[in-house]
Amino acid sequence: MDCLIVGGGLIGMLCARELASEGAKVRLVDKGVPGREASWAGGGILSPLYPWRYPPAVTALARWSQQRYADFARQLRDETGVDPEWERSGLLILDEDEPAKALQWARENGVVVEKLDTDALQACEPALAPRWPAVLWLPQVAQLRNPRLLRALKRSLAQRKIDVAEHVSVERLITAGNRVTGVETATGRMMADRVVLTAGAWSGALVPGLQCTIEPVQGQIIAFKTAPGLVRRIVLNEGYYVIPRRDGLVLAGSTLEYRGFDKAVTAEACQRLQREASRMIPALADVGVEYHWAGLRPGSPSGIPCIGEHPRIQGVFINTGHFRNGVVTALASVRLLTDLIVGRKPIVIPEPYDILE
Ligand SMILES: Cc1cc2nc3c(=O)[nH]c(=O)nc-3n(C[C@H](O)[C@H](O)[C@H](O)COP(=O)(O)OP(=O)(O)OC[C@H]3O[C@@H](n4cnc5c(N)ncnc54)[C@H](O)[C@@H]3O)c2cc1C
Repeated sequence: MDCLIVGGGLIGMLCARELASEGAKVRLVDKGVPGREASWAGGGILSPLYPWRYPPAVTALARWSQQRYADFARQLRDETGVDPEWERSGLLILDEDEPAKALQWARENGVVVEKLDTDALQACEPALAPRWPAVLWLPQVAQLRNPRLLRALKRSLAQRKIDVAEHVSVERLITAGNRVTGVETATGRMMADRVVLTAGAWSGALVPGLQCTIEPVQGQIIAFKTAPGLVRRIVLNEGYYVIPRRDGLVLAGSTLEYRGFDKAVTAEACQRLQREASRMIPALADVGVEYHWAGLRPGSPSGIPCIGEHPRIQGVFINTGHFRNGVVTALASVRLLTDLIVGRKPIVIPEPYDILE
């Protein structure tokens, strides 16, 4: 089986690795350098924010992946020497106004969600500002460090001798009848009997006319350099979060902006993220912003990724539209698509992710 993967973000690189381990001959192409777009820019929280607000199709992928991420990160570290820094930091949610709904969702999905009183909260995250009446604590939530995860994956592909072509932009599919035979790139044709589209926010142009419309949704993040341990938990309030890394870097995110393919960062967003982070962790008000970046999420109408074969063109498989949850759902999304490609019993019911015209 000859597979051409179009797009080397987290989803594409994982697809390449998984299909190669199934014995496929795999090539991956990227219009730039793999691992430098949304997957690099993301926060790496291994849970949807307010997970009970998502449809069951997102929960199913997130739960499958969450149960495997620690082993996967360890395996990648051992294989490549690059540690993706999987860490169970836990998640504090400061502003859930329907805690009963959250607790019921937790029971139904086997997730630990606890209510914390003021003393327990203070012990859990001493850096937190003192004034939160109804806090939820999700102790199982983990994170990893996106640039490290991608570096490890890239190295893993190289070690497995998977062919990766950088700076090759795919322009359109080539078909014969109702079957794909390859792709047209800016520098010539590449032939393959299976083409896997994992082009993130740019996927829409490659497969127009599908119900699963993908649009870029910009997200900006800032980062502070602090003493390691100043912040211990991922903290979320009114859609804004802080994420503490092992070395003391604290990320504060993120914005949600519909601005086309514009990745420029803005002073307004920087100030807003700084203000919201300091409301949660007052000590951050005294620390300068060290980094500020943006990425383009592959936005889909309901946040449910499109995973499966193209309804009309045999041999074209799609795995995109992960929106805000492309890291936490990645392992399951890629395993599901691989199951469909190799004709194995799928890990989850595939219908919710079907590609429809
Ligand atoms: C600020 C921010 C915070 C986030 N936080 C989280 C989080 O905490 N947890 C979480 O689970 N998710 C998070 N996400 C979402 C997550 O990062 C994305 O859903 C995920 O990375 C999408 O992965 P992808 O591989 O589909 O896309 P990308 O990583 O964008 O990769 C797509 C690749 O396709 C290539 N490409 C595009 N067009 C072509 C073409 N025509 N030819 C060849 N190559 C092409 C691009 O160059 C790129 O390398 C966040 C995203 C952002 C922006």
